[in-house]
Amino acid sequence: MSFLDRLFESGLLIDTGVDGLYGRSGQFEDVIAAFERLIDKIGGADGAEAIRFPPGMNRAYFEKSGYMKSFPQLAGTVHSFCGNDHDHMSLLQCMEEGKDWAKEQKATDIALTPAACYPLYPTVAKRGPISMEGGLFDLQSYCFRHEPSKDPARQQLFRMREYVCMGTEAHVTTFRQTWMDRGVDMMKSIGLDVEIDVANDPFFGRAGKLLANNQRDQNLKFELLIPVTSQANKTACMSFNYHQDAFGQKWGLSLKDGSVAHTACVGFGLERIALALFAQHGLDVAAWPEAVRKTLWG
Ligand code: ATP
Ligand code: ZN
Ligand code: MG
Repeated sequence: MSFLDRLFESGLLIDTGVDGLYGRSGQFEDVIAAFERLIDKIGGADGAEAIRFPPGMNRAYFEKSGYMKSFPQLAGTVHSFCGNDHDHMSLLQCMEEGKDWAKEQKATDIALTPAACYPLYPTVAKRGPISMEGGLFDLQSYCFRHEPSKDPARQQLFRMREYVCMGTEAHVTTFRQTWMDRGVDMMKSIGLDVEIDVANDPFFGRAGKLLANNQRDQNLKFELLIPVTSQANKTACMSFNYHQDAFGQKWGLSLKDGSVAHTACVGFGLERIALALFAQHGLDVAAWPEAVRKTLWG
């Protein structure tokens, strides 16, 4: 039986009929909550500002972010019926006839959040220059990516916990290195095999190949890999991204001395980490190694 089927059978994940869209049991959520407390414990002393955005973002910001240039295949936008009585009649008729009723829907002001940090940059830019000590933010959001898959670790709506750092190049690259070290230690402390490797984002199309190669050559993205569904093809459970001053330029993020801010973000894939724990220690949490249970639940 596949890992996904075992997760369904155990009730940890609940089938909705759509690949990559799952309900989660109380037990599954309890593992995520415990892991987030571990994140709080490790990162808590850094004094990050906590902000929680909903899983949808301002479509104008989404457009400005350039997401459609790089990842049009993954994007999700929210559309709604905006018609009158007459339009409503045709809508119902269309549905009745089993035709494509959705094409009459109009784009709303909301796009689905593709990564937890996307709504942050314009928000911070509006506040004005960032202090020379830098800015540090703690985010968590459901994120949408249109990548339906039978791999339980590749979902369409999943949660990303992120720390985002804005400041000088030295500041944000040190931040990223600190979290790479912390990430490895954290995963070891819950009995997971980890490996860090250079990575690239899935930039779309032929032009995307160039962007991906460039990202790799410059070591802009690293991933923390853990075996989830396969020992050979490990799953990225965290990523460590250095954007140089690209977001600083795009959003007008500046430091008090007038220079453009550099940014970096570190993301935890919360469902993937929970799944890595279930894959490594079994589906019965009560039977997990005592040391792991102690680290997670005290
Ligand atoms: P992958 O290469 O596996 O597609 P990614 O490079 O797209 O991952 P990021 O954009 O860096 O991932 O997102 C940060 C973290 O969010 C990832 O390290 C991963 O743990 C998690 N994540 C990304 N995509 C998914 C998904 N489809 N389902 C579940 N978690 C995901
Ligand atoms: Zn990010
Ligand atoms: Mg991806």
